[in-house]
Amino acid sequence: MQCVSCGKEGTKLCAQCGVARYCSRECQKADWLNHKTQCKSLKLEKQSKSAEKKNAEQEQPVDYFQSGVDFWVKGTLSAEQGKLEAAAEDFVYAFWLDNALTGICEHHEQ
Ligand SMILES: [Zn+2]
Ligand SMILES: [Zn+2]
Repeated sequence: MQCVSCGKEGTKLCAQCGVARYCSRECQKADWLNHKTQCKSLKLEKQSKSAEKKNAEQEQPVDYFQSGVDFWVKGTLSAEQGKLEAAAEDFVYAFWLDNALTGICEHHEQ
């Protein structure tokens, strides 16, 4: 299987959707802007398959930013303005997005 970004041998899967394949974290980052929309629907598709009865509307759509850094900045600003609830929410997104970008799992060939 090829890295969807550069076409080289891809050995790592996107930790969020488990579908997109990359050769390196760099390629995943480079492709994230393209992949984020697809990743979201792939992930939702997976979730709806595993829990079909869950109302899809309960799933709050997440605004995908290029990286968690955007949310760290946003959250920090909110915190400075005393909007602690909004800040906490942003930090959760930041953490989630950082995981999406850094948590690519090794694909073990048997
Ligand atoms: Zn690559
Ligand atoms: Zn993905």
